[in-house]
Amino acid sequence: MLNIVLQLSDEELNNIKNYYDQYQVEGKGQGVVFAAKLDDTAITIYKSGKVMFQGAGAKREAEKFGEVKMKKTTSKAPTNVKGDKLPTNFESYSVIGSDETGTGDYFGPVTVASVFVPKEKIELLEQFGVKDSKMISDVKIREIAPYIIETFPHSILVLRNDKYNKLQQNGYSQGKIKALLHNQALKHVLGKIHPNKPDYILIDQFVEKATYYKYLQNEQEIVREQVLFSTKAEQLHVAVAAASILARYAFLKEMDRLSKKVGLELQKGASNKVDEMAAQIWHEQGEEVLRSISKWHFANTEKARKLLNKKD
Ligand code: MN
Repeated sequence: MLNIVLQLSDEELNNIKNYYDQYQVEGKGQGVVFAAKLDDTAITIYKSGKVMFQGAGAKREAEKFGEVKMKKTTSKAPTNVKGDKLPTNFESYSVIGSDETGTGDYFGPVTVASVFVPKEKIELLEQFGVKDSKMISDVKIREIAPYIIETFPHSILVLRNDKYNKLQQNGYSQGKIKALLHNQALKHVLGKIHPNKPDYILIDQFVEKATYYKYLQNEQEIVREQVLFSTKAEQLHVAVAAASILARYAFLKEMDRLSKKVGLELQKGASNKVDEMAAQIWHEQGEEVLRSISKWHFANTEKARKLLNKKD
């Protein structure tokens, strides 16, 4: 199925609404402000100012309102990639992508997301501007994520700080925690699309394959079939890019919740600013509160303790 997305001005969007007025249908889904349906094309306008034409007549309809560039904007292949050798034209297969975030942030959870992108929807995602979450702003992530959530089979796991700290104290390395979460998220997505199967599963590599499966050795059910690992995987298949966006989105939402809880906008990362903020929270709200919003074993805790001692 063909999908074309145009970004248009309010005036142009109004023209589209008038034009398809008699074909209007009830718009479902987050951010949808107008929807219309022709025999061979669905037209959807989003709050963000994007309009999507879907179906056999997409090109014909879209060309009435804007310039349609059908050439794929292929991003440069990443260099220094480690991991499995991927099949030729890997970017065009049906793939479950899996990625995580929050592992380097002192405050907030570790989140893992897996997303299934069937090959006929790859272009749609690319046109929606889905790429590595590290390359797009948080604002854009909050805009795109709900669309991915509603369109693609996915799983999002949020490991909150209390549980993370407990696992860590019980001797689980961050690598092992991540491996367990990826395996669980992949199981969820495979269950959702069953009996359909992806051509491949691609995990953004954080440890060597052998180590990953060693972490999982005591698990009942281990996803192994067609699993590939690669670094920079967000750039190798849009499914991993979509997963990185959902993982980041879940991280941002949990950070919003925690920020509200402590009445401060929590700093991301693990910089000096984080140390200062941690010391402030420790000082004003106590150790338990700080523990409940942080990855306690990070070096930031000791740095914050030193700052705190200076305060006294
Ligand atoms: Mn990653």
